[in-house]
Amino acid sequence: MYKTHTCGELRASHAGQTVTLAGWVHRRRDHGGVIFIDLRDRFGLTQVVINPDLPKETLELIGNVRSEWVLQITGKVQPRPEGMLNPKMPTGEIEVAMQTFEVLNPAKALPFMISSDEEVDENMRLKYRYLDLRRERMRRNLELRHHVVKFMRDYLSDRDFIEVETPSLFKTTPEGARDYLVPSRVYPGQFYALPQSPQQLKQLLMVAGVERYFQIARCFRDEDSRGDRQPEFTQLDLEMSFVHRDDVLAMVEGLFTAMLPAVSPQKRLMASPWPRLTYTEAVARYGVDKPDMRFGMELFDAGAIFTKSEFAVFQGSLAAGGMVKCLVAPGCAGYSRKELDKLTEFVKELGAKGLVSLALTPEGPKGSGAKFITPAELAALEKLTGASTGDLLLFVADSAKVVHKALGALRLWFRDALNLVDKDVMAFAWVLDFPMFEWSEEGQKWDAAHHPFTMPRLSDLDKFETDPGAILSDAYDMVCNGYEMASGSIRIHRRDIQSKVFELLGIGAEEAQQKFGHMLEAFEFGAPPHGGIAPGIDRLVMLLADEPNIREVIAFPKNQAARDVMADAPSPADPKQLRELHIQVKE
Ligand code: ASP
Repeated sequence: MYKTHTCGELRASHAGQTVTLAGWVHRRRDHGGVIFIDLRDRFGLTQVVINPDLPKETLELIGNVRSEWVLQITGKVQPRPEGMLNPKMPTGEIEVAMQTFEVLNPAKALPFMISSDEEVDENMRLKYRYLDLRRERMRRNLELRHHVVKFMRDYLSDRDFIEVETPSLFKTTPEGARDYLVPSRVYPGQFYALPQSPQQLKQLLMVAGVERYFQIARCFRDEDSRGDRQPEFTQLDLEMSFVHRDDVLAMVEGLFTAMLPAVSPQKRLMASPWPRLTYTEAVARYGVDKPDMRFGMELFDAGAIFTKSEFAVFQGSLAAGGMVKCLVAPGCAGYSRKELDKLTEFVKELGAKGLVSLALTPEGPKGSGAKFITPAELAALEKLTGASTGDLLLFVADSAKVVHKALGALRLWFRDALNLVDKDVMAFAWVLDFPMFEWSEEGQKWDAAHHPFTMPRLSDLDKFETDPGAILSDAYDMVCNGYEMASGSIRIHRRDIQSKVFELLGIGAEEAQQKFGHMLEAFEFGAPPHGGIAPGIDRLVMLLADEPNIREVIAFPKNQAARDVMADAPSPADPKQLRELHIQVKE
């Protein structure tokens, strides 16, 4: 054994014992001949004191020791002298008076300090991730992630779920992103695809009679790096047979509700049971399908108030079948022209033509909308929104899509600007009744809003020919604090319906057979009704850890340009490897 105790373990009750510790030199201080070393391991810090009466060679050798050297130290535990106690440190009652030590490995000068929280350039942190992970914050995040995953495993195992591993080398499993392909050496010109999720495999496990499956599953999606995404990420993937939507929701709600106090006691649920909204309602009230429900500031539809308005901006949008919606920024009537211009720029970048403002000041209405809004309209607005003197109303008039996008984002802007939320509140909610298909302007075709294995509402089946946009699906999202935390659905388990969906998506019979023949065939061998969901683990841990992005809770993430800057990947392949893979790289 390298150590008799960890660096977080010793207390006053150990005084008098001779102990051996091993760890890193966290800090080193020289107090006029007496050297102090804070020795660190994963479990904590212990102060080691090196008295000047030790043999000269020992003193000389220890004098050379620097930050992050790995040492093994033997010494005697002693109470700290009066006035030197450190109540902030769990081991603050004692110190270890060193007798002997051994250098297990020295360390070069470090690219950044481990013992401080100073801001370090992220690429530098990622290049030396193994050093970055030594820092307290990262250690806490790794441990939290472990507790979260362990809780999930235990909770589901106790409820008859079994964890089943599924392959990474598989075939295209669409979730709306591009596939990562892996060339086959044995079959020239043929490729595996890394699964965007284990979607097909978990459904096939249901056909196999597993009934309750889960997996801590890695998903691979080749997306342009926009926002806080990673090429690979982790989901709690689960699937259940003989269930309706509410059975799946109850299982997941139960899991998360039980998990919160166990892994992050400082966090609290906003509401229990979790609120449920339809997709249409979520978009209408919050502008987005992943609302942050920790605060109000909902969107109001003011269209009915302005049907006879002479204000060209409102009139034009309503006449074109669009809408006029507003939100109320409480206490913001005093916003300056400059601040309002900034907000106008903000919504313009989101596609809106402009932003109409109406400030309810003690001297009467002000702002760009003031001279166009009649006293009767103003009274109706106050009634609709509950706004009163001191508040600022902001309107966007445009197509429903633009209005919701702009005001939805503006709502979040005010959330941050006015500090409207408590970071320890977890506002979980369910969003239900999604449309099954979305029209893609780009591809001029229907896309699956969730994925093509989602069950359309059976009562909507006749709309396949007449009005695909109106078909609802049995899909659901779990949202929290403005993030989509999970997507799931009741699945198709009938070949005829699956074929119908593929057909509408423009996947012809031949392509369907080639890509998904195994699924279609499985549905003809006694497939049980089934459904599932896949909560994202990275995002969840990010919220629980109060981190600003998922890279902070992934041990070895790619940077924002999708590169591993530590190992320097991706990197060119050896020409011999390429030849074996039958691949020629074009310059
Ligand atoms: N495959 C997931 C599901 O369970 C969805 C997802 O990966 O986002 O429906």
